[in-house]
This record gives sequence, structure tokens and C-alpha cells, in this order.
Amino acid sequence: MSNPFRADSSSGQQAVGIGMTSQRTRDRLVDLLAELLPLDPRVLDVMRQIPRHLFVEEALASRAYDNVSLPIGYGQTISQPLTVAQMTSALLQGPPLRRVLEIGTGSGYQTAVLAALVPELVSIERISALAAHARRVLRELGLRNVALVVGDGSQGLPGKGPYDGILITAAAATLAPALFEQLAEGGRLIAPVGAREQALRRFTRTENGLQEERLGAAHFVPLQRGRG
Ligand code: SAH
Repeated sequence: MSNPFRADSSSGQQAVGIGMTSQRTRDRLVDLLAELLPLDPRVLDVMRQIPRHLFVEEALASRAYDNVSLPIGYGQTISQPLTVAQMTSALLQGPPLRRVLEIGTGSGYQTAVLAALVPELVSIERISALAAHARRVLRELGLRNVALVVGDGSQGLPGKGPYDGILITAAAATLAPALFEQLAEGGRLIAPVGAREQALRRFTRTENGLQEERLGAAHFVPLQRGRG
């Protein structure tokens, strides 16, 4: 499937054209991120291309290339670029990802970064207005390997797995066991976990069970139950 952001794509022109006006500010942001943490070069490449300003409302567009989270309405936020880079890098580490599930589409920016890196992505969002906006921007960018689902993703999408990667962009005190059941062997689940104090965690499904790592502190909006 054609994907304008894939490094191996012959249609890279389109991606370059869209972000022309902010290429320099985007490069500056990505250079800063690379100084802050060890990050996957494939992720940095994609973040140089994807126009983050299209995922926030126009009044905030001038801040889109600052390393900050920003409000996107409905009490939700677009994640900080460093967090997006860190989570995506952590997800990519290991065997290649074919199918990935994202929980908490929000603005769709993290979705776009993932869609440029993996063949097949499913993303679920409980607030339908946010999903609708994300769908428009992703389509505008020509990212067609994403299926957006409106609904409660706190249990993942039971019956639709397994996934090689699951990325959750809202924090839960504990993760539902159903989520781990949807993880393929060798698959990774990245999520902020914790009620008052959150930590970013990576769970890897090995033949001997789940292996858990702590990746650092996190500050996410809560993972909620039910439709928005
Ligand atoms: N990655 C997004 C993060 C948005 S904030 C971005 O950078 O824009 C987290 C998102 O998770 C919010 O949009 C919120 O509505 C959504 N969310 C919270 N609980 C959810 C649930 N149970 N199922 C699906 N989405 C959920």
C-alpha cells in the first residue's frame, strides 16, 4: 500500500510538499529530541516529515513544534513530542511489527507517526469528534493503512488480535488482562501505568511469560471506561 511517509516509498514528494513551510522548525524540534534521549532514527525521520501543526487547532499551530503537550479539546491533550518519540522507539525495538493497536487516537499525531512505520494499524478513540478530526487529517496526509475505531479501548479490541505492538496513550491504574491476551509472542505493549504517579512501562510477551521494564516517568490523561 502506498504510504507517503515510508522511507522506501517512491511517493515521498507529497509528504515534503505538505510540510514545506515548517520544515525548519520541525528539524529543530527533532534535533532537540535526539539530544534528550536515545531514540530510534526511523522515528526521528518520520517526525521530521509529519506536520504536527495539522493535528492541533489553528490558534495553537505556532506552538506545534515546541516540545510540549497541547490541549485538543474535550479535556484531552496531544502528547509531548518527546513522549511520542520515546514510546514509538520503545515499541519498534525488537522483531518487526506487522499489526499494531493504538488505544487513544486523540489528535491522531501519534497515529500518523505509527502509520508511517508499520504496515497495519488499528487505532481506537472513545470521543467520536476527536476520531473524526483525526480521520480527516490522516486521510489528507495519504495515510491509508489505519483503521480508526470509535469506542472504549480499555480492553483492547477482543477477538481482533493478536497484535505485534499495542501502544496506549492514556493512563490506567492497572491494565486489563484482556490487553495482554491480544499481544502476539515477541509483541510489545507500551503504556503509562499508575493512578497518582505514572510510569511508562514496556511489557514484552516472551515464551516464558511477560517481561516488564520501566521506561521513565509519565504524565497522561486518564484512560476512561465507556464511550465518550
Ligand atoms: N496520542 C494522543 C493522545 C491523546 S490523549 C495524541 O497525542 O493526540 C488520550 C486519548 O485517549 C484521548 O483522546 C482520550 O479520549 C482517549 N481515551 C481515553 N480513554 C479511552 C478509552 N477507554 N478508549 C479509547 N480512547 C480513550
